[in-house]
Parts: sequence; C-alpha cells; structure tokens
Amino acid sequence: MIDKILQNIAPHHCYSCQKIGNILCDSCIYNIANETENTCIECRRPTVVGSCSDCNLPFTKAWVTGVREAELARVVGDFKWARAYEAHQSLALLLDQTVPILPKDTIVVFIPTISHHKRIRGYDHAELIARSFAGLRKLHVQSTLSRMNNTIQHKATKIERRKQAELAFACKTKLDRNVPYLIIDDVVTTGSTIKAATRVLKGAGANEVWVAAIARQPLN
Ligand SMILES: [Zn+2]
Ligand SMILES: [Zn+2]
Repeated sequence: MIDKILQNIAPHHCYSCQKIGNILCDSCIYNIANETENTCIECRRPTVVGSCSDCNLPFTKAWVTGVREAELARVVGDFKWARAYEAHQSLALLLDQTVPILPKDTIVVFIPTISHHKRIRGYDHAELIARSFAGLRKLHVQSTLSRMNNTIQHKATKIERRKQAELAFACKTKLDRNVPYLIIDDVVTTGSTIKAATRVLKGAGANEVWVAAIARQPLN
C-alpha cells in the first residue's frame, strides 16, 4: 500500500536501461536472470545445482541469480542501504526466473536480518524477498530462523565468518522432514551463513534443504 503510493509520487527508472516504471523492468529482469551461471557455491566449479558432490555441502541444491556487480549490485545495495523498499518486488521476480519449479509443499524460510540493520532500514530485507517470492509461487513462508548473535560480518576473515555463522541461528519450531525447505538470502559471500542456517534447519528436523540467493559476491 505505502510503496504503491510512493511509487505514484516518484516513478522509478530501471536501474539497467533507465526505462520509467519499476526498479528493474521486465526485459532487464529477464536478461539478468538469463545470465545465471551454474557453479558450486563453495568451489565455483560448474554444476547445475549449485552444490557439487566433492564439497559435501549441507544443502543439496542452490540457485543464485548472478554476480554482485553492475545493476544487480546497485539494486541490492540500495535495497539494503538506501531504503529502496520496492526493490523486493524486482528481486523476487529475479529469483522467480532463477529457481526452477518447486514442489507445492516447499516451505520458504529466510535468513533473518541482524536486528540493528533491521532498525536502520525499517524492514527485514530477506524476509521481504522471501514473502514476495513465495507469493509469486504460492508457497508457504515460515519465519522459523532466529538470530542468536548480531555480529556484523563485513571485515571478518573466512574463518571468523564461519565461527560467527555457526553460532548465529536457532530454529524456533520443529520442522517436517517430509517437505523441502528453501532458504532465501540476498548475497552469498563465503557461504558460511547459508551453511550454518542449513545445519540449524536440519538439526530441527528438516531433511531436504535448498538455497536461493540474489547475488554472489565476486571473488576478491
Ligand atoms: Zn530495464
Ligand atoms: Zn564444490
């Protein structure tokens, strides 16, 4: 409602082609999602499911729309840091084009935002993407992961990130081992966050866990 009103006051220009309308226009969403590279989240070797057999990742499938660069980096950045609230719709549409058709009983969950960031933004960005995506796919959303620590990861090394991530989450409910769970996050950097979240979901009873994210941090 509020974003509809704001949209009417200040129309957006597509971040990619400048066309007036949404933050990303339909054809740019199609083009960005069409360039999805199929690589293992961990070792970056080609694989269609984002999780190769050598890396032994806790989730069995992972889909990432693109590398965090150019317009994808700007949309994600403004959504997180410049209150571009409406961007969640474009980001959900990107995921909709990236993720294949899922079983009807798939439950969508999300990586909860650090509470300090949520206060600054006024919204939980991954939750917004998750709810929009689930709406497009008519899937259920569960707000089942909670943050146990609120450490900010920006300057942490890979080992520090892994340690922080291992302690970061708890699962509020007992999960159903007969349905797949899809974790939604915005950016995948080392993968430690989604791995830790997957382990927590499995610890709470989930059997099959998949991951979908908007952007992969470029190497370096
Ligand atoms: Zn465009
Ligand atoms: Zn791998």
